Amino acid sequence: MQLAALGEFGLINRISPLFRSLIPEGVEGIGDDCAIIPISETESLVVTTDLLVEDVHFLRNVMPAYDIGWKSLAVNLSDVAAMGATPVGTFLSIGLPSDISVEWTDSFFEGLHSLSAQHNVPLLGGDTTRSPEKIVINITVVGKAPSNSIKRRSAAKLGDIVATTGFLGNSAAGLWHLLNNSPKNESTAMLIEEHFRPKPYLHEGQWLANQKGVNAMMDISDGISSDLRHILKASNLGACVEMSQLPISPILKSLANSYPWDILNFATSGGEDYCLLVTIARENFPSVASKYYEMFNHPLSAIGEIQCGPSEIEWKRNGITIELLERGFQHF
Ligand code: ADP
Ligand code: MG
Repeated sequence: MQLAALGEFGLINRISPLFRSLIPEGVEGIGDDCAIIPISETESLVVTTDLLVEDVHFLRNVMPAYDIGWKSLAVNLSDVAAMGATPVGTFLSIGLPSDISVEWTDSFFEGLHSLSAQHNVPLLGGDTTRSPEKIVINITVVGKAPSNSIKRRSAAKLGDIVATTGFLGNSAAGLWHLLNNSPKNESTAMLIEEHFRPKPYLHEGQWLANQKGVNAMMDISDGISSDLRHILKASNLGACVEMSQLPISPILKSLANSYPWDILNFATSGGEDYCLLVTIARENFPSVASKYYEMFNHPLSAIGEIQCGPSEIEWKRNGITIELLERGFQHF
């Protein structure tokens, strides 16, 4: 059987049980945005790692080295944000072809340093090796959080409001412009910037983790059509999502008629939004959302509701159930 038949998540599900008996009581491994390792009665470490491979995650001649450095860290910090944790330190393993310029590596580390400084998280170690042809980047982030405030994918409850902390689809639209080499203007440059420099919602994640009624949380890396299903599977519940409520940015809306896009497809299945997907008890949602807006000056957008039934998403447009064909990004 070829790996493509198994798929990315099929492979993860295949390896996960193999190591389960080695995991000590209280430690949580594969299955959430970070692993959780309790270190005292009250505190836990969280650990996450992500791999970026040239030509799979970025094109060297299209993406500036500075942005590659930035994004390699941002995607990891986003997983720490999803647990409601605070990053403590990072490790970088990098494979580089020997003909890469020092200007490239300087610029890569400037980007990495800039985001590290923004969140006060130092690079603590790593490994450097020659790669025959392609750049390979792996960052691991260690974070910490009070154990009782850590948020898991498995904690969604029946009747919860499903919400996101940011716009959906901008990054996918930016990628579309890059791949289609379309002429740049101010709006498309902003979308490309969002694709290159995602913003990890760390402060938002930490704040949400301490609010009453916030149940499940994860970050949106593959698109809600795939990521919300991870929450549903882990929580053993279903959800409905109302398309007309999806938070689409004014820029994306304004460009909708100028390109052969399906904006809703970008918003549901484009991926790489790196905002947070949260489920919040219905009775707490109004006060959490209004305090959130006061704190962060951008909305917490309700997009649907947790319901019973199979761990699938019921897509609705103006209350009427519709079929959605795209299913989010998967490797293989
Ligand atoms: P995320 O998008 O939040 O980084 P992934 O979808 O990449 O999460 O991974 C889902 C889960 O599977 C995570 O808990 C991750 O740690 C685990 N995982 C992914 N690949 C591997 C692997 N090769 N070995 C062990 N665990 C893995
Ligand atoms: Mg994640």
